[in-house]
Amino acid sequence: MKILCIAKNYPDHVNEMKKASSAIVDHNQAPDPVFFLKPDSALLQKNMPFFYPDFSNDVNYELEVVVRIERLGKGIEEKFAHKYYNSVALGIDFTARDIQKKAKEAGRPWTISKGFDGSAVLSDFVTLEELGKPIDNLDFSLTHNGEQVQIGNTSQMIHSVDRMISYVSQFMTLRTGDLIYTGTPSGVGPVKIGDILEGTIEGRKMLECRIK
Ligand code: MG
Repeated sequence: MKILCIAKNYPDHVNEMKKASSAIVDHNQAPDPVFFLKPDSALLQKNMPFFYPDFSNDVNYELEVVVRIERLGKGIEEKFAHKYYNSVALGIDFTARDIQKKAKEAGRPWTISKGFDGSAVLSDFVTLEELGKPIDNLDFSLTHNGEQVQIGNTSQMIHSVDRMISYVSQFMTLRTGDLIYTGTPSGVGPVKIGDILEGTIEGRKMLECRIK
């Protein structure tokens, strides 16, 4: 299975990243979704602790709604994309911001900064039916040591889940079990050893991650 991650999918996060990297060329918002991959070895499930890697001094959390693909598909039309998922989870797209910054400045891929072990935290899944809400109107939030740091609603996405599925499946066959991390709202920030991150969807606690 593969882990697809959508970059820059919430306007307020796009703005905070622009502010943080004024030295970097300002990319205009692309008309197509920008996505990258994490390897399956990046997965961290069942609220297992995250072990801070020794190769970075600036690991950041990015809380994201995650969609699991339930059927094989290629070249999926946007209007049929909703048939390819029925549940969501919360994930953290851990990012070694220092390594990512160096890679961006050198025009290199982000692979290490986004794909290291444990960088794809994933909660259990809950069906949209159980949540009683459509995929494009889900509230989600993250606390960092008990303080709320990220809050979003999937209606704020620049590219909808259906659009992402349609776009990505033009290039890569989607298989059952593939995951799509759908982007983060503003409020990303660094973690340190001893921290705890807790995430909710629709007020339901889904995820807990201790940093060790
Ligand atoms: Mg992300």
